[in-house]
Amino acid sequence: MSIVNTVARFFPSLMGPRKDKNAESKPQILQRKEHGISRRQLSENALKVLYRLNKAGYQAYLVGGCVRDSMLGAHPKDFDVATNATPEQVNQLFRNSRLIGRRFKLVHVLFGREVIEVATFRTSPSKEHSSNQAKTGDSGMILRDNVYGSIDDDAMRRDFTINAMYYAVDDFTVKSYANGFQDAQNKLIRLMGDPETRYREDPVRMLRAIRFAGKLDFTIEEKTEAPIKMMAPLMEQIPAPRLFEEVLKLFLSGNALVTYRLLREYKLFGELFPLTEQCVADDEFAARFVEQTMINTDTRIQAGKSVTPYYFFAALLWPSLQRVQAEFLEQDIPPQPALHKAASRVIEQQLQRTSIPKRFTIPMKEIWDLQSRFERKKGKKAFEVAESNRFRAAYDFILLREQCGENLKGLGNWWTKYQESDEYQEVAANRKPDERHTKKRRPRRTNRGTPNDRQRSRRSEP
Ligand code: ATP
Ligand code: MG
Repeated sequence: MSIVNTVARFFPSLMGPRKDKNAESKPQILQRKEHGISRRQLSENALKVLYRLNKAGYQAYLVGGCVRDSMLGAHPKDFDVATNATPEQVNQLFRNSRLIGRRFKLVHVLFGREVIEVATFRTSPSKEHSSNQAKTGDSGMILRDNVYGSIDDDAMRRDFTINAMYYAVDDFTVKSYANGFQDAQNKLIRLMGDPETRYREDPVRMLRAIRFAGKLDFTIEEKTEAPIKMMAPLMEQIPAPRLFEEVLKLFLSGNALVTYRLLREYKLFGELFPLTEQCVADDEFAARFVEQTMINTDTRIQAGKSVTPYYFFAALLWPSLQRVQAEFLEQDIPPQPALHKAASRVIEQQLQRTSIPKRFTIPMKEIWDLQSRFERKKGKKAFEVAESNRFRAAYDFILLREQCGENLKGLGNWWTKYQESDEYQEVAANRKPDERHTKKRRPRRTNRGTPNDRQRSRRSEP
């Protein structure tokens, strides 16, 4: 490895601007009829933010997923703005805004439930910047990223070329960097810059490559994909709360099955769910169970039904739970305590990779616990089980187990019939609705947490 590569690999911040910067950092300007985005596809609130910033004399663009998705004719999940105004200046301009983040400062402009995220153009930090502005860890991971620059600099800091497109509202052009527009046409996910360096700066970019490939049905370009398997273990450096957020985006957005298969192929799934990976690698039932969970999750989303993290995590950890419970049973621990001990152990181990908030671990345990209680179905016992707020989720779980080949002696069928009985109708009427089965209006950013949580999932946030 040359000295230049070594420096780039371990001290990317010392490299300064990349050599190919001049070629890459000049945008291609696309006119309205070339890029095809009409204002009707865009959020009115996001446009208001652009107009206001422009009027105050600042540059402002829509950037990232909203430009990419609008261009591809898809519905953007959210709208991000990039500007040369500092976060403080943006904050002053909008009464309905707040400054967030320390390591990656930005501003949220709030319009009811819609949050427009406004970030100031970033540039690559160099040696003279204080550690308050920029900081890189020993392995090359960016720990702080608050050095401001121009739009050209900012584009170089974006993850993929298809995310480095900027829409301006003053002339309706799109500035596309590093052939982002062509890559979008050719359905290619390509990292900006040197892949190894960029993954080292932020290993979550590997997950993002897979997520976009799954969501957009794009191919990961050769150089971008090459290092992933080898670098997958870097995922260990990412804090568990950020990985939890990433898991929600990966699996609860309607493309779980394809994303899961890609993650396994690229050796990333085991980084997120090590226990589950062990099970699916050597047990056919587990493999079927996890795949079916992904299929059912996608089907629910397509049907406009809600999905909850607790059901998803309960299902993904089920095969491991059964394994650990079997070990306890062999030690002559009775089934129910064995289940509880196994649940605690499996969750504890999972928490080392992805956090799972308590509001989800509690219902996960309830679903698991109800599985054996579903077997006690005589008279009052059935009534008690049906009263539980997790009844519907636990019932689905029984069906899922049977669907994957577990022999539960017709249990699912019994409970299906029971739900037609008068007794059940009465209980169900008094039960608090199970979140998972109520189609309700959800805030726009459901999968990304509250606006306050959101800063955690930002790029470069350790
Ligand atoms: P979606 O919102 O559909 O998940 P997105 O591309 O908009 O996709 P966001 O997480 O909303 O993703 O991020 C907005 C933009 O910020 C991205 O398009 C990209 O330009 C930039 N970005 C986000 N995360 C990173 C990262 N880890 N490294 C570099 N750039 C990033
Ligand atoms: Mg986005």
